[in-house]
Amino acid sequence: MISVIIPVYNEEENLPILAERLFFVLRKLGGEFEVIFVDDGSTDKSLAVMRGLRDTYPQVRIIKFERNCGQTAAFDCGFKVAKGAMVVTLDADLQNDPNDIPKMIEKLKNCDMVYGWRRKRRDPLLKLISSKIANYIRNKLSGEDIKDTGCSLKAYKKDCLNNLKLYNGMHRFLPTLVKLEGFKVAEVEVSHHPRKYGKSKYNVRKRLIWPFLDLLAVSWMKKRHLRYEWEEI
Ligand code: UDP
Ligand code: MG
Repeated sequence: MISVIIPVYNEEENLPILAERLFFVLRKLGGEFEVIFVDDGSTDKSLAVMRGLRDTYPQVRIIKFERNCGQTAAFDCGFKVAKGAMVVTLDADLQNDPNDIPKMIEKLKNCDMVYGWRRKRRDPLLKLISSKIANYIRNKLSGEDIKDTGCSLKAYKKDCLNNLKLYNGMHRFLPTLVKLEGFKVAEVEVSHHPRKYGKSKYNVRKRLIWPFLDLLAVSWMKKRHLRYEWEEI
């Protein structure tokens, strides 16, 4: 079974369009699937829209947070409740394209996690620049070569998520964290679309300052990770 996890924070206009595109792709893939919407404290009509979608599509599950807890919490909760052996994550705002899911699932046959690389990003200039800087610093400090760790379109074998201990903001470092646990990760080029409806939930402070502090934590974790081989004799 494939579990698709979607964090939702005030995305009322996007959800019906996303559901239609997503279900088209998932049905074509064949096999069992579920779509888990994690409502991260939306204050618009997102929740009502999701309920409506669940009436149309029985594979829809809805998780509701009492208040806005952040994207990492939404992913984390989705990982915990997912029933599938494979897990796919994507944003609710139509910036990720469900049509990329089949190639991610295909690539997942030879590794444990696949992360999307938005080669042609369709975002405002300020965001493109801040993200370029963030990716550069992130790779430099954490000794990685990950082109785009912030893309939500990712696919996992469920096993590599079982022992992850996530903290706020850590969804940006999932490829590094999964690798740290000894799993194999791979990159796939994905498409990206401009946001048409609703607003981005991150300002420059949220995009640069906190992630920088998180980066220091992840770099520390990487350096201090326990590495030992043992046998009982
Ligand atoms: N999101 C969320 N909780 C938050 C912030 C964002 O669930 O506190 C969701 C949001 O609804 C979207 C995804 O996470 O589905 C990515 O958010 P956004 O599009 O604002 O990020 P950007 O593309 O601007 O980096
Ligand atoms: Mg977005």
